[in-house]
Amino acid sequence: MDFGLTDEQRLMQDMAKDFAEKEILPTLREDEANHRFRPELVKKMADLGFFGCALPEEYGGNGYGFLESVLISEQIAKVSGSWRLPFNMQNIGPAITVNKFGNEEQKRRFIPKWISAEAFGFFAITEPNSGSDVVSMRTTATDRGDHWEINGQKMWISNAHVGDWGLLYACTDRASKYKGLTCFIINLKETKGVTTKAIETKLGLHCAPTGEIYFDAAKIPKDSVLGEVGQGFQICMWQLNNTRISCASGAIGIAGGAIDAAIGYANDRTQFGQKIGSYQMVQAQIADMVAEHEAAQLLVYRAAWLKDQGLPNQHQTSIAKLFASEAAVHAALDTMKIFGSYGFSTEYPAERFLRDAQSLRVVEGTSNIQKTIIAGISLGDAVNR
Ligand SMILES: Cc1cc2nc3c(=O)[nH]c(=O)nc-3n(C[C@H](O)[C@H](O)[C@H](O)COP(=O)(O)OP(=O)(O)OC[C@H]3O[C@@H](n4cnc5c(N)ncnc54)[C@H](O)[C@@H]3O)c2cc1C
Repeated sequence: MDFGLTDEQRLMQDMAKDFAEKEILPTLREDEANHRFRPELVKKMADLGFFGCALPEEYGGNGYGFLESVLISEQIAKVSGSWRLPFNMQNIGPAITVNKFGNEEQKRRFIPKWISAEAFGFFAITEPNSGSDVVSMRTTATDRGDHWEINGQKMWISNAHVGDWGLLYACTDRASKYKGLTCFIINLKETKGVTTKAIETKLGLHCAPTGEIYFDAAKIPKDSVLGEVGQGFQICMWQLNNTRISCASGAIGIAGGAIDAAIGYANDRTQFGQKIGSYQMVQAQIADMVAEHEAAQLLVYRAAWLKDQGLPNQHQTSIAKLFASEAAVHAALDTMKIFGSYGFSTEYPAERFLRDAQSLRVVEGTSNIQKTIIAGISLGDAVNR
């Protein structure tokens, strides 16, 4: 067992930290206030090679794995939870899924576009009445002989209104339930019958676009199917087990950012003639946050490492996602407490860490859903894949 990082991994961490501090931090307050997504930042991240992890070099991959992706995106999320999202959209979501299930033509055509950020990616599963229960989705794809016709609505989709190419999950045969879903590769901007709308009412992740997608007799080519017709549920679960690790990396990033802010403030703020960090109750808060954070980091790194070894990891990934996202919310809440009234102010970062961390308990399967996966595998009802 080796807990150390290689020199190269440390170099990547430093590069990501430097990028976040120089490119994201200086305008973050203004960007957050204006809910501003900056496409040029995604391109710059692509130029630094951030989106090629766990992908073959022949399609533009960088030769690194999930662990390196986690290490980079953790550093980005430490500064801003919003800017962790492009890792899912350009790399861990559509690109890795197409690499696993796509044919050679699809791999050559799409993966380089996502890695280079020539195309902004997305994956559309959730609907107004279908979230955790993926099989209940109502969006349909009907075989019209020479094309597929898509009808329905997707909701809460990251990159919906800025996305180019991405993955759409739709129902091709309702009676077949789990075997009645199919995954399609689709272009949101170039397909007639597709409209998108931004969701402007989010609590956090203000620099990350989220929206709705409407399909009204949208026509897509026959060769848009990823994998086999009816394989969509399997592809979706495989994909979520990967995007979950990206979400978990965001959680350890946000917790790390919150803890740094809490420690800085505890060492600076004086009450009753002493630094508040000298009081045992504040020390206990810091100790709990730090201990939970380090445990979360180890769980997330272990799950990423298992993925890189090609070993079963669904159990460990769900444990990492559950623990890290709950720990991030806890760290953000205690950071707010340590900041006192300033924790309640939007002038200070504590409240943003909390708003962004809350999203991680929901996305890629809620904390309850992670518990059902962990319990199911622990009890022997499901196999760890
Ligand atoms: C910022 C943001 C970005 C997102 N990006 C995307 C995206 O890019 N693509 C995409 O497809 N979706 C995306 N989502 C949607 C997200 O994945 C879903 O919201 C999530 O899966 C939960 O679905 P739901 O909101 O419909 O909740 P529901 O499934 O309705 O759940 C409501 C509550 O019931 C609980 N619950 C449900 N079923 C069970 C059960 N069996 N056992 C115990 N408890 C249960 C849940 O834990 C939750 O507390 C995003 C959401 C947000 C907030």
